[in-house]
Amino acid sequence: MTFALIGNQNSGKTTLFNQLTGSNQHVGNFPGVTVEKKEGRIRNTKNVTVVDLPGIYSLSPYTAEEVVTRDFLLNTHPDGIINILDATNIERNLYLTLQLIELNIPMVVALNMMDEVTASGGSIDIQTLEEKLGVDVVPISANKNQGVTELVSRAIKVAEQKKLPEKLDFCSGEVHRAIHAVAHLIEDHAQAIHMPLRFAATKLVEGDQPTIDALKINQNELETLRHITDEMEASVEMDREAALADMRYTYIEKLSKSAVHKAGETKEQLRSVQIDKVLTHKYLSIPIFLTIMSFVFWLTFGVIGPFFGDILTFFISYITNATDQLLTNIGMSKTMHSLIIDGVFAGVGSVLSFLPVILVLFCFLSLLEDSGYMARVAFVMDKLLRKIGLSGRSFVPMLIGFGCSVPAIMSARTLSSERDRKMTIMLTPFMSCSAKLPIYAVFTAAFFPKNGALVMILLYILGMTVAILYGLLLKKTLFRGNPVPFIMELPAYRFPSWKSISLHIWGKAKDFIYRAFTVIFIATIIIWVLQSFDFRFNPVSNSEGSMLAAIGSTISPIFAPLGFGDWRASTALITGLIAKEAVVSTLAVLTGVGDPAALTPVLAHLFSTLSAFSFLCFTLLYMPCIAAYSAIRREFGSTLESFCAMIIQTGIAWLVAFFVFRIGILLGLG
Ligand code: GDP
Ligand code: MG
Repeated sequence: MTFALIGNQNSGKTTLFNQLTGSNQHVGNFPGVTVEKKEGRIRNTKNVTVVDLPGIYSLSPYTAEEVVTRDFLLNTHPDGIINILDATNIERNLYLTLQLIELNIPMVVALNMMDEVTASGGSIDIQTLEEKLGVDVVPISANKNQGVTELVSRAIKVAEQKKLPEKLDFCSGEVHRAIHAVAHLIEDHAQAIHMPLRFAATKLVEGDQPTIDALKINQNELETLRHITDEMEASVEMDREAALADMRYTYIEKLSKSAVHKAGETKEQLRSVQIDKVLTHKYLSIPIFLTIMSFVFWLTFGVIGPFFGDILTFFISYITNATDQLLTNIGMSKTMHSLIIDGVFAGVGSVLSFLPVILVLFCFLSLLEDSGYMARVAFVMDKLLRKIGLSGRSFVPMLIGFGCSVPAIMSARTLSSERDRKMTIMLTPFMSCSAKLPIYAVFTAAFFPKNGALVMILLYILGMTVAILYGLLLKKTLFRGNPVPFIMELPAYRFPSWKSISLHIWGKAKDFIYRAFTVIFIATIIIWVLQSFDFRFNPVSNSEGSMLAAIGSTISPIFAPLGFGDWRASTALITGLIAKEAVVSTLAVLTGVGDPAALTPVLAHLFSTLSAFSFLCFTLLYMPCIAAYSAIRREFGSTLESFCAMIIQTGIAWLVAFFVFRIGILLGLG
């Protein structure tokens, strides 16, 4: 048995999904977090699955997420729909409910966030609501796990009995006449493809092209259809879409008058309005955002991160030394010893020690996101992003890009226009992803011990600046035209739940550790082999004669003008394409030091302070790792286009690093 979980964005779908299935999907107080559908089995049931679908406001396919959800409903024929509503915004949420009812699929309405409604002194008359909607309604609070068991048993019952929503006639007057006339006209078409009649008729009146195609309406019928809708438009003096929206809202208004007793705005909504006066203030909003972010960075890289990082480094070097001792004692062969200590321990260890910094940063970011603040930033950023030809919507992928480009690129799917989508995908990799943090941390510790946090902030700003300039260029050349208008609902400010944050952080930690022991592990072994042998697989005493040196030396001239012509630097950049953390592990393996702290004196041989900075600029900007590249390729749907995008991006990185280095020399910093 399969249930589709459907609701507006930010209505608590994912929270409910996690409660139902016991899984740990990312919950965010931020519209547009769920892009793909996710399936899970409901706990304590046999073979009942639930599918978490992207949030939508209507069944008209304007954006990619609406298409995903609508296709799922129409083509997969789930056994039931669980329609989740945000009870604090019940009118707007019911708009979708009315459309879902037309689908003629067994359905239960889950009235979520009832805790907030009751806390503010409001109430909702469930029985009246059930009567007027003709479906079961269950009040719940997903994040407090209240009413969820009841919801499950009701949903299963409704699906088992195949209890269809009662036939509701919420249309009236001219619109009513039009819908029924159209229904009559296309009855056999709808039956032929098993499309619910009422849904088909409404969509045709709306002029929905996919439905017209799906139903194979012929020219004659199309004429009749046009005639019916023209007449309707003329007599209600509204265009067809407005007429239908008006019809639904009139019904909802009547319905909520009799069933919903609001105690004015909820406490959370009132509080949000107050907070928003400051945080989205015309002039203050951006300085506040920058201040908050600087504070977060300072705490992460200056205070908390290093503290835990040092502790972890201590443990790692302790274990490394102990293993080293053990291997010596049992007389392990020299080659194997070197592989384990200089290869694996050095590489994996050097990456692992950055776990704390990353977790601390993500703790802060998810705090900001869960509280609802980041949605405001997107709103504030809309004006700025418009200047480079994007809308506030693009802020979401870019923000996720600070974590990892792969989900960021995928989340760009929520953008409704192809132009906005492609442009966003091309700019997102310039947002410095978290895998680059270990690189920054190693280099700032070695070359900018006093100004580490400042250099990091500079790098992040550089990434954004380059993205802005690139965006301007794209807007003038490849992507002329205007971004779509920005509509994003601002969620109420909420106290972030520790559960959600710890899930988020745990997810990151798992991911990072997993990468350290898989991708990085394999990369370090390969690097070690390439570095320890020559092309005839004779062990080399000095890595200068190794295969790796030969490969690195071939491409190193490209980087010589940027100040880092050493073959080890260029090799690290190549392995960085596997995963960015590999830059650090490669340097650790190549220089034969495991402890990142011990990297400092060694790096001083390869880089000057200036060339270290230009190296950082290059790593910040050059093409993303293979995983991100394949995500881009998938979204672009074209190898050529995505490949060109990568070449251009790496070219930009080269130019920026070149200018940084040359200007530095002119200023006498070299
Ligand atoms: P989705 O976009 O529909 O998947 O919504 P999410 O599951 O990501 O939740 C959106 C926000 O609503 C998060 O901040 C949740 O913590 C919050 N939330 C979810 N359910 C409830 C609830 O029952 N009560 C309250 N007060 N907040 C909730
Ligand atoms: Mg979600």
